[in-house]
Amino acid sequence: MLKKVLIANRGEIACRVIRACRELGVKSVAIYSEADRESLHVKLADEAICVGAGTNTDSYLNLANVLMATQISGAEAVHPGYGYFSERANFAVALEALGVKFIGPPTGAIESMGDKASAKKAAIAAKCPVVPGSDGPVPTDVEALKVSEKIGYPVLLKAVAGGGGRGIRRVNSPEELGDAWRIATAEAQASFGSGEMLVEKFVENPRHVEIQVFGDQHGNMVYLGERECSIQNLRHQKIVEEAPYAQLPERVRKKMGEAAVRVAKSVGYQNAGTVEFLVDDKFNFYFLEMNTRLQVEHPVTEEVTGCDLVYMMLRTTSGEKLPLKQANIELKGHSIEVRITAQDPDNDFSPSTGTITGWRAPMGRGVRMESHCYAGFTVSPFYDPLLAKLIVWGEDRADAVRKLQAALHEFEVEGISTNIPFLRRLCATPSWVKGEFDTGFVPKFLDGEAT
Ligand code: ADP
Ligand code: ADP
Ligand code: MG
Repeated sequence: MLKKVLIANRGEIACRVIRACRELGVKSVAIYSEADRESLHVKLADEAICVGAGTNTDSYLNLANVLMATQISGAEAVHPGYGYFSERANFAVALEALGVKFIGPPTGAIESMGDKASAKKAAIAAKCPVVPGSDGPVPTDVEALKVSEKIGYPVLLKAVAGGGGRGIRRVNSPEELGDAWRIATAEAQASFGSGEMLVEKFVENPRHVEIQVFGDQHGNMVYLGERECSIQNLRHQKIVEEAPYAQLPERVRKKMGEAAVRVAKSVGYQNAGTVEFLVDDKFNFYFLEMNTRLQVEHPVTEEVTGCDLVYMMLRTTSGEKLPLKQANIELKGHSIEVRITAQDPDNDFSPSTGTITGWRAPMGRGVRMESHCYAGFTVSPFYDPLLAKLIVWGEDRADAVRKLQAALHEFEVEGISTNIPFLRRLCATPSWVKGEFDTGFVPKFLDGEAT
């Protein structure tokens, strides 16, 4: 087993990984910014090293400082969490040069899946259905117009380097394309340093369904069921995630799982990864992208499979074989996660910062919390607004929904605004309770049209 691991992240995910390290007898090293001195991840770790001032570029994204902290700490491996350096091949390469293991896939797999154009190419080569669209990046708006005419409107312009729901723009007609192109390419350039665009058919009323895959260094790979993540905000960011997708026919689950494994194997994948799909109302599925890291919503998979994905990441990195075979993986019960964010639902979900004066988190049977927050902690403006993930498990979806409603009722945060009141309303909406929704649910809900 690994002896010492540095966690190159902050927030709830750093706490999650540090706990797993302690449970497995692995020494943990936290890194933190000056603004995160009082964060829980710093207190939980065996050691902690400050990597710079408050902004991400000064600290968590400061490559030289993170590498130096790794060397000073003597860690033999680095867990990147999600975001930050988790999907940057150059980070894994730099660690390798220092003789430090990257807890994640091989560099080549990160590169193959790093941009949406080459990821789609890999999926096509692995005989996995993809959303119809351009073959690779589209150089000009004139070219985009041609592709759109061919596949038919509405289409989406999508940043090749995009992620986290940014750099995506819907175009309903040729007249809209010119403006959309200018805005989207500028946004992509500013956010990702690349203005390259794909054109993709806009799939009407789809579900977002993703498959968790896991591979070891010995050529074994399994899929651990799916997660349904259609409840997304107006920027296509996930808010509620569940496992399984209750209505998914077993036959389709198997086909999607096998397609995901095929795609992952085709790029030499190892460790934890997620293949994202859109699923239409006839259960046709289309590859969207692959996230080459641990996903924010991984706990719902853990709850229904009984697997600890972070244990598996640490163990397979140290060379152990996967502890399970496909035939032995069963999904038991139902799990739902909601993302608790520091955003004001009464004010266009604008970020809320300041000191948390009161924090009463829900408890009880079937309730799991992942968070770095507590009463007295100050939420700074520098980072992602995620405060906590509330995860419930129930015997079936109806049971999980009741537990979630009760837990949200119990959750009290004082001092800053959170999206908890919004989540309470959303999770009390009859159509959501019945499981009748798609990726268009939240816009409808906000317009008061969800019943
Ligand atoms: P996932 O696909 O795992 O659900 P999201 O779509 O929520 O992840 O987020 C996508 C990306 O947004 C992450 O990979 C990361 O770049 C960024 N992100 C989200 N939450 C955080 C966070 N708490 N800290 C840093 N980055 C984050
Ligand atoms: P990101 O890298 O930002 O996560 P994705 O390609 O995974 O980008 O898309 C994010 C979300 O945007 C999807 O979950 C879905 O809701 C929506 N979306 C993406 N592509 C399409 C499409 N072709 N048609 C309809 N919705 C889409
Ligand atoms: Mg995605």
